[in-house]
Amino acid sequence: MTQPSFGVIGLAVMGENLALNVESRGFPIAVYNRTGEKTKTFMAERAQGKNVTATYSIEEFVGALARPRKILVMVKAGKPVDAVIQQLKPLLEPGDTIVDGGNSLYEDTERRTTELEGSGLGFVGMGVSGGEEGALHGPSLMPGGTKQSYRDLESIVTKIAAQVDDGPCVTYIGPGGAGHYVKMVHNGIEYGDMQLIAEAYDLLKNVLGLSNIQIADVFKEWNATEELNSFLIEITADIFTKIDPETGKGLVDVILDSAGQKGTGRWTVVTSLELGVPIPTIYAAVNARVISSFKDERVAAAKKLPSAVEPFGGNVQAFVDKVRDALYCSKMCSYAQGMALLSKASDEFGYNLKLDEIARIWKGGCIIQAGFLGKIQSAFIDNPKLANLLLSPEFKQSILDRQSAWREVLATSNKMGVPVPAFSASLDYFDSYRRARLPQNLTQAQRDYFGAHTYERTDQPRGEFFHSEWMKM
Ligand code: NAP
Repeated sequence: MTQPSFGVIGLAVMGENLALNVESRGFPIAVYNRTGEKTKTFMAERAQGKNVTATYSIEEFVGALARPRKILVMVKAGKPVDAVIQQLKPLLEPGDTIVDGGNSLYEDTERRTTELEGSGLGFVGMGVSGGEEGALHGPSLMPGGTKQSYRDLESIVTKIAAQVDDGPCVTYIGPGGAGHYVKMVHNGIEYGDMQLIAEAYDLLKNVLGLSNIQIADVFKEWNATEELNSFLIEITADIFTKIDPETGKGLVDVILDSAGQKGTGRWTVVTSLELGVPIPTIYAAVNARVISSFKDERVAAAKKLPSAVEPFGGNVQAFVDKVRDALYCSKMCSYAQGMALLSKASDEFGYNLKLDEIARIWKGGCIIQAGFLGKIQSAFIDNPKLANLLLSPEFKQSILDRQSAWREVLATSNKMGVPVPAFSASLDYFDSYRRARLPQNLTQAQRDYFGAHTYERTDQPRGEFFHSEWMKM
């Protein structure tokens, strides 16, 4: 058996599947997991007869790898990644590369990059998207670090990634924490997509009263459209067909309406606030998960704050079509926000991100994969300096054509007391972004009134500041 030069540390769902993916492309591998029992089970149940070397100590693991070693760390994000790097560092040699494939915070990746500088070791912070299926059959990979470290991995990552018409869903993202930054924003966009789909479901169920099977059919239909065709819409259609074996009810109906989160959505909001880039759709999605977790409070409040609901009196199919349009418009706003955030981060952190390439590698393998990403890719190929996706000719026309349907959906949902925070945040983003004059002239007047913060004037050059003695006027 050829000695492996690629190894995986961490045999939970992602590590196991990525290890098998790498092995299936013809690369022998070594594996190690802190708890040896896990390794034994993996070898017995999934790796039998495969080119996999099991190891039971970090020393044995490093010893099993031929130089230059390439080590994929797939352990829990945070302190465990530091612990593993500390264990590896004294055992590795110049030219070896550590790849952190977990959902690490980009700032941790920047710190680890600095800490490893001068050691002669390569370090790559690589975002991996696609869940367990993607990891096994072809994920979308977002590697950041030095170009040389990426080159050392290129022959492997281009083979294990999902493949789309114009290549593998992997590209060199940029230096330092760029890969994890892009993965974080990918997850923020994923939060936005999931919330927008949840709101569409709420409208179909609680405004129109559609059954699960009817809702499944609507999502199936939407998935067949160029605009909404995507992995998330596809699995949504499937979810509505599943029956709970215990109760015979729709499985989705017996699931508690309290959403979990692991932090990447929140991190996306935090960085957007720090960089001053509005991402209200994604923020609304994070907040929606938070408020959903106040289950007991909501149940109590529902009794005390009932809503006066008028029955829906319109045409059902026409409203379904309007919800589809509202979903598409909101989705365009959400992606416009995510891409604007990437663009600002690229300038701020020197990542030199290629937004068209990022859209390309999200077209397959990952949770947000969608036909629509091809349009985003084209928009940034046509104009790499595009200030906002909504200004690209295609997106501009798509949204203008659908905006009245979008407004009608919001008016109906507001009247009926069905919350659509991400649809609303998206429309407010659109309306704010396209307004030449906003009411913040008043905000500036107030700031100057109570705090002498000064203001600029519409009739004087920008950058000249004025103050008024408001109380003496
Ligand atoms: P996980 O539940 O996040 O982590 C479990 C793994 O971490 C186990 O192998 C565990 O080893 C190891 N571990 C924990 N603490 C450790 C320590 N102090 N030292 C050494 N090893 C330690 O696993 P996962 O779901 O496969 O995810 C792995 C990474 O990929 C995470 O960063 C996750 O956020 C990211 N990710 C996950 C998904 C997904 O769909 N699950 C998708 C994309 C990215 P023991 O068995 O010894 O406890």
